[in-house]
Amino acid sequence: MKNKECIFCKIVKKEASASIVYEDKDVIAFMDIHPINEGHVLVIPKKHIDHFYELNEKDYLQVMTIVQNLSNKINKTFKPKRIGLVIAGFDVSHTHVHIVPMNDENDITSKKLLENKMPKFTNEQLVKSAEKIRGVK
Ligand code: ZN
Repeated sequence: MKNKECIFCKIVKKEASASIVYEDKDVIAFMDIHPINEGHVLVIPKKHIDHFYELNEKDYLQVMTIVQNLSNKINKTFKPKRIGLVIAGFDVSHTHVHIVPMNDENDITSKKLLENKMPKFTNEQLVKSAEKIRGVK
């Protein structure tokens, strides 16, 4: 996938919309449009780098620091049993960390996806979720 076609790069450049939860000069986080559970967030470096292990250490640590901070806020907001992380990237070849609020051990696997039991959320609901997370001190 070329940078130009990358949906996440478009979100970074504000050429595509997203429910943004956090943004600084290097990192942006937004609601996954196909959430496993309410509060499912993606955290990405702004640079188009396919594999997380290709990030330099500083960028990697920066992304993961934001991941930890947002996980705390998501936990306070949605009170799931646990928070899980996934980095896969088959869908979009731009490093992204999934923060997944989990209430069941299978929430972190693709069981729901495979069984076609993914919950549906409207854009309005995603915007609300983003607002909730942003509101956590
Ligand atoms: Zn990209």
